[in-house]
Amino acid sequence: MTQENYKRLTVLGATGSIGLSTLDLVRRNHNNFKIISLTAYSRVEELAALAIEFGAELAVIGDVALLPELKVALAGTRIEAHAGEAGLIEAAERETDIVMAAIVGAAGLRPTMAAVRRGVTVALANKECLVCAGDLLMEEVKAHGATLLPVDSEHNAIFQVFDFDRACGVEKIILTASGGPFRGRCRDSLLEVTPEQAVAHPNWDMGAKISVDSATMMNKGLEVIEAYHLFPIEKDQIEVLIHPQSVIHSMVEYTDGSVLAQLGSPDMRTPIAYSLAWPERMHAPVKRLALAEIGALTFEEPDLDAFRCLYLAKEALKTGGAAPAILNAANEVAVEAFLAGRLRFVDISAVVSETLSSCDIKAPQSLSNVFEIDNMARREAARWLGEWAH
Ligand code: NAD
Ligand code: MG
Repeated sequence: MTQENYKRLTVLGATGSIGLSTLDLVRRNHNNFKIISLTAYSRVEELAALAIEFGAELAVIGDVALLPELKVALAGTRIEAHAGEAGLIEAAERETDIVMAAIVGAAGLRPTMAAVRRGVTVALANKECLVCAGDLLMEEVKAHGATLLPVDSEHNAIFQVFDFDRACGVEKIILTASGGPFRGRCRDSLLEVTPEQAVAHPNWDMGAKISVDSATMMNKGLEVIEAYHLFPIEKDQIEVLIHPQSVIHSMVEYTDGSVLAQLGSPDMRTPIAYSLAWPERMHAPVKRLALAEIGALTFEEPDLDAFRCLYLAKEALKTGGAAPAILNAANEVAVEAFLAGRLRFVDISAVVSETLSSCDIKAPQSLSNVFEIDNMARREAARWLGEWAH
């Protein structure tokens, strides 16, 4: 902490599921944090209300057209109002001790990178950043001495039990997956599923995009790629295991056969609290784990035929280069189309697969390169979408 009693905190994506959980913890521990900047994409009223409640210095709305509305909502306060990508970057660049990176999708990459370049602590929920620019982001983390704390529950679990000083003693990491709302179903039975069914996750309450990613298991695929960048391991040392109760959040297996795991109720406020308080601990008002009540923890292998997105993501990691960025962009386009009722659930993987096979996979050398690849993959995915949409 640079101030005596509190940490200065910026929340990118403050109106989302992770952003609101973060602010819930801050509200309950208001003496320990001072909010500097809050950002959102389109929910002006909500953003303004949060900025006023937390006494933020700056509120940023992603959609530039909404800046006048934000200004009106903040009239009479001393809170600055900015908009667009430049505004998001400005929010990330304001001096703080921590930045919570909780924008969804590749849209969070530039602001997250700006926070990393300040060399501060970045609590990273926005996994798509690592998927589409993992090498570049980790290079910047190193170069600027930033501390990257994984908020994603699996990676947060691994972070808590990974022996970074003796990484050669690690044999593999095991990412657990709930299996989502369609666990156990075959591909043919998924032909008619609706967005409402896909976003109804059995254990976790999350934003729409990640909920669909959980239903297709692309989320676990993105997490395999995320894990590869976050931890000093090889690509073939990452395994996925279905664990429907979402109690074990992930595991590290060591060369002597020991397996260390982190357990807890499925509530993102635990990994968020861990990241906000690190290296200390803070109270989180989550349901305590009642193992006797739960009774049994079960495990199964993932079905890569029904959940082809997981297979595609693992393959993209093996291929390397631009493949993960292409996979991510195509998936973002396909999920948006599915949520809008323009694409069948089972065709999300088809759009991703076709886009991957028709794009050049040369590795990005710079951030602008990543966005060129991202744009190209989005155009290509949109073209395939025309073919697959109903
Ligand atoms: P969400 O959709 O609930 O919220 C996303 C936030 O980002 C909102 O504040 C929104 O205004 C903002 N945003 C969206 N598009 C934007 C754009 N183009 N420019 C600027 N801001 C934009 O999403 P979420 O569930 O909170 O997830 C956020 C990130 O955290 C995702 O990368 C997700 O994969 C990751 N994550 C979420 C959970 C979870 O439980 N929700 C768990 C692990 C990881
Ligand atoms: Mg996760």
